[in-house]
Amino acid sequence: MAANKKMLMLPGDGIGPEVMHEVRRVIDWMARRRAVSFDISEDLVGGAAMDVKGTPITDKTIADAAAADAVLFGSVGGPQWDKLGFDNRPEIAILRLRKELGLFANLRPAVVFDPLINASTLRPDVVQGLDIMIVRETVGGVYFGEPRGIETLANGEQKGFNTDVYTTSEIERVGRVAFELARKRGNKLCSVEKANVMECGLLWRQVMTKLGEREFPDVQLSHMYADNCAMQLVRNPRQFDVIVTGNLFGDLLSDLASMLTGSLGMLPSATLGAPDATGKRHALYEPIHGSAPDIAGKGIANPLAQILSFAMLLRYSFELNEDADLIERACSNVLASGLRTADIMAEGCARVGTHVMGEAVIRELDKQAA
Ligand code: NAD
Repeated sequence: MAANKKMLMLPGDGIGPEVMHEVRRVIDWMARRRAVSFDISEDLVGGAAMDVKGTPITDKTIADAAAADAVLFGSVGGPQWDKLGFDNRPEIAILRLRKELGLFANLRPAVVFDPLINASTLRPDVVQGLDIMIVRETVGGVYFGEPRGIETLANGEQKGFNTDVYTTSEIERVGRVAFELARKRGNKLCSVEKANVMECGLLWRQVMTKLGEREFPDVQLSHMYADNCAMQLVRNPRQFDVIVTGNLFGDLLSDLASMLTGSLGMLPSATLGAPDATGKRHALYEPIHGSAPDIAGKGIANPLAQILSFAMLLRYSFELNEDADLIERACSNVLASGLRTADIMAEGCARVGTHVMGEAVIRELDKQAA
């Protein structure tokens, strides 16, 4: 059994270590039953690293992340670190990792598991079977564009300003990630911007159109204005397969899309960098929830988003699609069996804690592999 897949685990703060513990059991199961194993190292990040090492993330941890094939991240932050200056805040750990590893494409699936269909605030007939993927550009656009600032004008008034900016190559690299994903899914990609009122959006649309014609003529490409996309996501979300968009619109639309599922503790994500000459790319996987300080240490956190983040890691960093399918099916079956952590509790179901939920996933994996 060759252990040549290098994974760095960064559990972080709050419920991070608790839910990561359950992933460890899935990893052990995979080594035992599927002959899939990893070279794993683990490190402190966030407030935990601040307390021990005096910084939210060390340069060595960044270097280890860059050397790993994939990073599995938990969550960082908590009220005990809220008073630290901006440079020492736990959240700096994830911001530095994204920046220094060049992680520009954030992938957020929004999947509605049948047993959780009533957790959505939308009608079951609107969200049943929903399975969409939002690809958000994360290192460019208006959050990073220059010039930016707050100025005092001659009349004493103040002016705040930011610049939305994308170059051809920035649009193409995130566009390629989205086209490739669409090819592996329903072959449909919707590119979202505001080409009607923003030059940056107009360029985005032109570049995406040319990229599609040139490199992905087999993928069905459509375009939509961001405001219409927000409306369509609520009206008829199943019309979408993959959506690609810039940083600002992606921030809003991916939060909107994830809430169609109604359950924060269920949602994984991936952030990918550009492939190198060998096709290898930096990649970081994490649940979309934070460190949930209100429930940390109580053993009641839902571990499924972290486990599903690991399934994404198997799929996108190692092409272990069958193993990823196994884990996703196991999670779905556990929900179908009526087990629920507090965050997704429903009438007639059995409330369980983090550990029992993790155990149930292992039992389901055993059943499937039998
Ligand atoms: P949060 O996601 O941590 O929690 C929001 C609510 O959802 C809380 O009531 C929490 O108990 C619940 N929740 C979240 N995950 C859950 C799970 N797996 N199981 C059960 N319930 C769950 O968001 P917040 O409260 O806004 O932020 C708390 C801290 O996390 C802050 O310090 C914030 O900066 C940080 N944060 C970190 C990340 C990250 O590490 N990438 C992301 C978001 C927030």
